[in-house]
Amino acid sequence: MLDTPKNRPVLPPEIARRRTFAIISHPDAGKTTLTEKFLLFGGAIQMAGQVRAKGEARRTRSDFMAMEKDRGISVSASAMSFDFTNKDGEFRFNLVDTPGHSDFSEDTYRTLTAVDAAVMVIDGAKGVESQTQKLFEVCRMRDLPILTFCNKMDRESRDTFEIIDEIQENLAIDVTPASWPIGVGRDFIGCYDILRDRLEIMDRADRNKVSESIEINGLDDPKLAEHVPAAQLEQLREELEMARELLPPMDAAAMAEGSLTPIWFGSAINSFGVKELMEGIAKFGPEPQIQSAQPREILPEETKVSGFVFKVQANMDPKHRDRVAFVRLASGHFHRGMKLTHVRTKKPMAISSPVLFLASDRELAEEAWAGDIIGIPNHGQLRIGDTLTEGEAIRVTGIPSFAPELLQGVRAGDPLKSKHLEKALMQFAEEGAAKVFKPSIGSGFVVGVVGQLQFEVLASRIELEYGLPVRFEQSQFTSARWVNGEKQAIDKFTESNKQHIAHDHDGDIVYLTRLQWDIDRVDRDYPDIRLTATKEMM
Ligand code: GDP
Repeated sequence: MLDTPKNRPVLPPEIARRRTFAIISHPDAGKTTLTEKFLLFGGAIQMAGQVRAKGEARRTRSDFMAMEKDRGISVSASAMSFDFTNKDGEFRFNLVDTPGHSDFSEDTYRTLTAVDAAVMVIDGAKGVESQTQKLFEVCRMRDLPILTFCNKMDRESRDTFEIIDEIQENLAIDVTPASWPIGVGRDFIGCYDILRDRLEIMDRADRNKVSESIEINGLDDPKLAEHVPAAQLEQLREELEMARELLPPMDAAAMAEGSLTPIWFGSAINSFGVKELMEGIAKFGPEPQIQSAQPREILPEETKVSGFVFKVQANMDPKHRDRVAFVRLASGHFHRGMKLTHVRTKKPMAISSPVLFLASDRELAEEAWAGDIIGIPNHGQLRIGDTLTEGEAIRVTGIPSFAPELLQGVRAGDPLKSKHLEKALMQFAEEGAAKVFKPSIGSGFVVGVVGQLQFEVLASRIELEYGLPVRFEQSQFTSARWVNGEKQAIDKFTESNKQHIAHDHDGDIVYLTRLQWDIDRVDRDYPDIRLTATKEMM
């Protein structure tokens, strides 16, 4: 059975079977391993832009990937699609990968605008770690439904109640056990599947095998004793009874509004608990949701196609300088070759070679439905936050651009190459990898990022993709704010604050400073001007 929220029509089956989600976790909790197992069970697949760049491009790309690997981070988000079939039918899962490192939180935030749910992976021995907490807060801002996977149960892990308590306490969300672990560490034998009354036994010998699943008729079923040693069985019964008293039952509506998370226990590396989690995603998903937009929201079942850009990745193939805009379809049934209106510029765009990230390679997307992620190669017209429709002037909202927290000046190693540098910087700015500001006084650029590591990644990408060694250096500015107000007020303001004024890559006016005092002064002295730390992308 699919869960349809109250007061919502039943979606067309092609849309209703789609599940678009991201995985959030602290580095090392097992996100990559879990993703691999998803793909394994889904009979898939390709990871967009990650594993299959070809020929020369592969080497360059993988150098860059090597840097990601060295640091244990994944710098670029990507999308993958795969199928999952169970007794309820065939589901299409769209997994949008999020960069795990906190330096890339803005990218992550935008990725999370493109999904309908998140899977939170935690390490059973470590519990809720700092990065999980941060990413969770982002999900909370959007009331995203969360499914939790407690990984590495094959190792010594914490007490089950303790883990659940920690999630409830630290993240202020109710937790309901979807499964319950039996034994710990070396004695861990599997889980009791609470939602489906099954016993799942882990196979330690074959890591890629789906666990043995035994149907159980309640906790008094004698079959339990055939598979679970007496002492562990007694403990399981006690704990489950306690859990029933202390913890809320599964409630799809509470999960959908983000106030309750079901938790599955397992071991990704042993392929254990993964299938049950996938069953959970299929059942509680949820299906593609309503998209907030102006002047009206977009319903997934609308027959007209609409979608929005949540990520732009430049130079996936450095030889071709191609750019791929990742578009989340918000409504309708898309066909290759369709003409869509690019709402920001009001121009028609023929979408002739959209890509879908599945099967053994990037594939041309002959069709796609609301909920899907397609890649649209383009020459820079498509920017983050852009909306595409069949003509109606709707603009998807809620995709912010954050003020960077770190600013540095940047200089080309070879001064004759500064024009090249400008081009490279603009490209990265449009990709959303950094903010680039051109101060109105003086030459040169100020680059803004959220975390220090991004400077290093940028420097190495500029060198790799443009053959341009660059140096980042201290900037006289430390903060950037967007300037908002009526044109006249802005003109007057910029005229008398020239030394602080810059333009971002969209040409919007930005106020740069190193003192909070300056920002307070503007707030006080210019009542018609509003300085903001975020800019809604449009
Ligand atoms: P990520 O940083 O979250 O993507 O984590 P990875 O998937 O790369 O996993 C981090 C480490 O934990 C790797 O060495 C994995 O082999 C290991 N790992 C992942 N899942 C499990 C598990 O279920 N049990 C154990 N013991 N190790 C695991």
